[in-house]
Amino acid sequence: MTITIDEMAAFCKRKGFVYPNSEIYGGMAGFFDYGPLGVEVKNNLKAEWWKANVTQRDDVVGIDGSIIAHPKVWIASGHVGCFADMMLTCEKCKEKFRADHFIEDSLKIAADGMKAAEINRLVKDNALKCPKCSGQFQETQDFNLMFRTFVGPKTDDKSVAYLRPETAQLMFTNFRLVVDNARLKLPFGIAQIGRAFRNEISPRNFLFRCREFEQMEIEYFVHPDKTYDCPYVESVYGHRILVYSAEMQAKHAEAQEMSMKEALDKGIIKTSWHAYWLASAHRWFIGLGAKKENFRIRQHVATEKSHYALDTWDLEYNFPFGWKELQGIANRTDYDLKAHMEHSGQDLSIFDEETKQKVVPHVVCEPSLGVDRSFLVFMFDAYSTRKDEKGNEVVVLKIHPKLASHKAGVFPLVNKLEGKAKEVYESLRSDIPCFFDRSGSIGRRYARADEIGIPFCITIDFDTEKDGTVTIRDRDTAEQRRVKIDDLTNVLQGLVSCRIGFADL
Ligand code: ATP
Repeated sequence: MTITIDEMAAFCKRKGFVYPNSEIYGGMAGFFDYGPLGVEVKNNLKAEWWKANVTQRDDVVGIDGSIIAHPKVWIASGHVGCFADMMLTCEKCKEKFRADHFIEDSLKIAADGMKAAEINRLVKDNALKCPKCSGQFQETQDFNLMFRTFVGPKTDDKSVAYLRPETAQLMFTNFRLVVDNARLKLPFGIAQIGRAFRNEISPRNFLFRCREFEQMEIEYFVHPDKTYDCPYVESVYGHRILVYSAEMQAKHAEAQEMSMKEALDKGIIKTSWHAYWLASAHRWFIGLGAKKENFRIRQHVATEKSHYALDTWDLEYNFPFGWKELQGIANRTDYDLKAHMEHSGQDLSIFDEETKQKVVPHVVCEPSLGVDRSFLVFMFDAYSTRKDEKGNEVVVLKIHPKLASHKAGVFPLVNKLEGKAKEVYESLRSDIPCFFDRSGSIGRRYARADEIGIPFCITIDFDTEKDGTVTIRDRDTAEQRRVKIDDLTNVLQGLVSCRIGFADL
């Protein structure tokens, strides 16, 4: 079932997942608020990522850095100087457009990484005009995406600071402290989840491109001579994914499905680290119920690669508005550590015990994943419909139980059974996020729960009093089983963690 991004935005608002920000004042483009259900799903998503990438790994530790840092951090990283998108401004009405997106929309060609001269030429040759007032465009200008603010009571140049445009840099500024505190040995990663801010010229497509969003990032450091030796690569050799290399793009060829081993053997993916982190990211999504076939990996072509990156691949998802980036995985080499060494005058090299060398490690991979874009992926892949008994189409949000806002709804079949149902509910809720619903017919309550993605419904009926059992209903199949109240917590925990399947009951 495919719905448009606008339909998804409307669904998210209607059911309390995500609201447009400040709507009572007319809204604020590029900002969104997660509602009562959305915040739970988003928290679960972040917790799952943290568990898979930090808690369950020996080689990755986490930090939680501040949003505002010393402005020199962003000068050293290059963001103050060149974190910009090109902008087209209408001479007449002064409306502004992100130039590459405007070219893509108007001419239906790829414009990522296109240079200003090329954009100006295309605007002229194709007589492109302002879509609002048909005015002429000025020459493209760079627009820096950093949000500026002032720290303290003064508003002079010395008090200027920036809201971080990515979580990444604090893994570099805290590098020495983290390495010493956590006694890290190469290769290792430092991870972080947090907010990032970009003053996007034209935010659009709901949560896909906002001005405030969250990222889940890892800086993965290796010895500079070992950028090709990933010890974990064999675990992903057999993993298959649609691959769209720079060469395939240049030849206008189709993306090809292949295993990671094949992609490495053919030299399509250059380093085993890249293969490993790309496959791991894809597996993480699939493991949480996203549809395998909706993903591909795409290599950046030379013109779109950042100045610091040796090689970059994106994990892309087939959104209703096309294949788009979900996660960027860049090989940033030693660019950032060296830049911070130069600007701070501090030594950020470390001693590698294995080779007995003092080295500045390379970030062979920087998996950088958007929380909000991931949220959209899980919502799109979960969204489905079925016909109810009256033939009406109703939504079933088949979101993975680990991500679902609540794991169970607890219902008394009739109001007379409310006391017993409350008892069951109270016994569950300290271990399992669940909710109680007594209003409307039982069919109506199931439908309401299906629509917001509640994986299991527990109904207390007349047999409960007699034999101490309840009905448990599976959202995705509408099948029902009887389970003893005494086993309920255990059963639900097993179902949510996928330790047991519904068919096992
Ligand atoms: P795009 O090309 O779509 O602008 P980007 O290459 O600038 O993205 P990165 O700097 O690689 O993005 O950021 C890493 C991740 O952060 C992205 O893959 C995406 O998931 C998320 N992200 C970046 N910008 C935004 C945004 N404006 N709104 C929501 N998520 C974003």
